[in-house]
Amino acid sequence: MKLTLYHLYPDLLDFYGDRGNLLTFKARCRWRDIDLQIHPVSLGENIDFTQGDILFMGGGSDREQNFLIQDLSSRAQELKQAVEDGLVVLAIGGGYQLLGKYYQTVDGHKVPGLEIIDYYTVAGSKRMIGNVIAKVANPAHSKTDLNTLVGFENHAGKTYLGSGLSPLAEIVRGYGNNGEDGLEGVRYKNVWGTYLQGPLLPKNPHLADNILRAALKRRDYNSDLRMLDDSLEIRAHKAIVKRFS
Ligand code: GLN
Repeated sequence: MKLTLYHLYPDLLDFYGDRGNLLTFKARCRWRDIDLQIHPVSLGENIDFTQGDILFMGGGSDREQNFLIQDLSSRAQELKQAVEDGLVVLAIGGGYQLLGKYYQTVDGHKVPGLEIIDYYTVAGSKRMIGNVIAKVANPAHSKTDLNTLVGFENHAGKTYLGSGLSPLAEIVRGYGNNGEDGLEGVRYKNVWGTYLQGPLLPKNPHLADNILRAALKRRDYNSDLRMLDDSLEIRAHKAIVKRFS
């Protein structure tokens, strides 16, 4: 079995080393004899997203978002079509914001988004920084008994989901989308959007597998992933939940 992952703008969107999450995807695939090919995509590079299985976008500062939006906008139609066709997407922080309608910076400047999903983001005056514990809204498919996500956030943008959209999770501790409505991230078709930066997947191996399952299922591969020994990861996860809840 072979899967193709496109990593969008690895040199620009890598807040907190978000690219490390790809090592988790890669290892969890390798341990199950799945050949995961990772292709970095830079500004101006011609890519046919319909050929990919997974798209990964990390976080970035307002500066980087502004810098890459011209290139990203030129791909908007194609990306929208790919998402509607079930492309699996993991988008974090700034990458997550860019899938929505717009990101308005503190000084009122509106960075247009891809308008793929119905939400918008407005920067507040206070940065939302710290540890996050969130209850997964829909733990279906996860074969572990974990129904939480743990991670770290650092953003000024407050994201507001359109009505009818599901969040990825509900906040137990931390700010999540905006610090107001208790929601964290978004789940739309095969898209996972989140503010959890850095080692999201090592800390949440059940999330990594749910995303991989979606990619396998879309290709009609057997998505019944063999269980791995995640006992250490699960112990670490539970210890964090206990400490911060
Ligand atoms: N620039 C955005 C913000 O500060 C996104 C930062 C991030 O990727 N966490 O809101």
